[in-house]
Amino acid sequence: NKLKAGLEKTRKSFTEKIEQLVIGYATIDDEFLDDVEAVLLSADVGVPTTATLMAEIRNGIKSKEINSPDDLKPFLQTKISAMLLDKAVAEPISHKPPVVMLIVGVNGVGKTTTIGKLASYYQEEGKKVLIAAADTFRAAAIDQLEVWGQRTGTEVIKHAEGSDPAAVAFDAVQAAKARKVDIIIIDTAGRLHTKSNLMEELKKINRVIAKEIPEAPHETLLVLDATTGQNAINQAKLFGDAVTLSGVVLTKLDGTAKGGVVIAINNELSLPVKWIGVGEGVNDLRPFAAAEFAGALFA
Ligand code: GDP
Repeated sequence: NKLKAGLEKTRKSFTEKIEQLVIGYATIDDEFLDDVEAVLLSADVGVPTTATLMAEIRNGIKSKEINSPDDLKPFLQTKISAMLLDKAVAEPISHKPPVVMLIVGVNGVGKTTTIGKLASYYQEEGKKVLIAAADTFRAAAIDQLEVWGQRTGTEVIKHAEGSDPAAVAFDAVQAAKARKVDIIIIDTAGRLHTKSNLMEELKKINRVIAKEIPEAPHETLLVLDATTGQNAINQAKLFGDAVTLSGVVLTKLDGTAKGGVVIAINNELSLPVKWIGVGEGVNDLRPFAAAEFAGALFA
C-alpha cells in the first residue's frame, strides 16, 4: 500500500538495520546496545527520544521482557506505538462552518502542495473548500495556488503581489460566509530570513480572522519537510514561539530515511503529526494514524 511504499526508505534504514543487528549478535551486550542507539539516531529519532527509548530497552532487559536480540524488534514496535498513541491524532474537524485552517511553514517544505492536497481531500468528503492566497510576498506562490485551485476545482481568493496578507484573509472569510463554504485554507508566507516580520504578519492574520469568526483559526498546521530531519524540530520550535500550533503536516516522507522524525516531533514537541505527505500527487496526503504508521515502519 501507499503508506508502506512511502515509508520504504525509513523502513530500510531502520527496521532492516535492526534486523541485521539481531542476526549479528547472539547475546545482548554493550556493543549491541551501542549499535541499536546508532540505528535510532540515524533514522532521526533524535537525541532525547533515542535516550528515552534506550532507557526503555535497558529496563526491558532488567525486567526480562528482552532476553535476546530477537526480542528487540517487537519490543521497540510496542514502545514506539505507545509513544505515538500517547498524543492526539488527526481528528476530523468538527466546528461550525466555515472552519479556518491556517497553513504555516518555511518556503520549500511543500506548503502549496499540501494545501492543494488538503483541498482535494476535503472536497472528496463533500465539503466546499476555499483557498486564500495570503502569501502575497511571492507572485509564484499565488500562481502555484491557482494551478492547484484549477486542478482540484477550488476557488482561490487572491490579491496582487505585495498586498496585505491580512486583507486577503479577511476577503476569504467574507467570501466563505457569503458562499456557504465549509473550510477555508489559508496559505501564508514562509520567508524565515525576515523572521520578526513574518511572525507579526501571522499574528495580524490571526487577529483579523478571530474578529470575524470567534475561535478561528480552528487549526494552525505547521508544514515540515521530513527530509530535513532534526532541522524540522528547530523550525517547529521557532513557529511555536510565534503562533499557537495545533499540529504538523510532515511532507516528503517518501523521499527520506529520516522518518524517525515523526517520533521525535510527537515526543519532543508534544505536537501531534496530523497529516503525512508520501508523494507529489494530489492523493499523496494521509491523515496520520499512529498504529498504522508504526505497523508500516516495522512491516
Ligand atoms: P512550498 O514552497 O512550501 O510551497 O513548497 P511546494 O509545495 O512548492 O513543494 C516543493 C516541492 O516539494 C515540490 O516539488 C513538490 O512537488 C514537492 N513535495 C511536496 N510534498 C511532497 C511529498 O509529500 N513528497 C514528495 N516526494 N515531494 C513533495
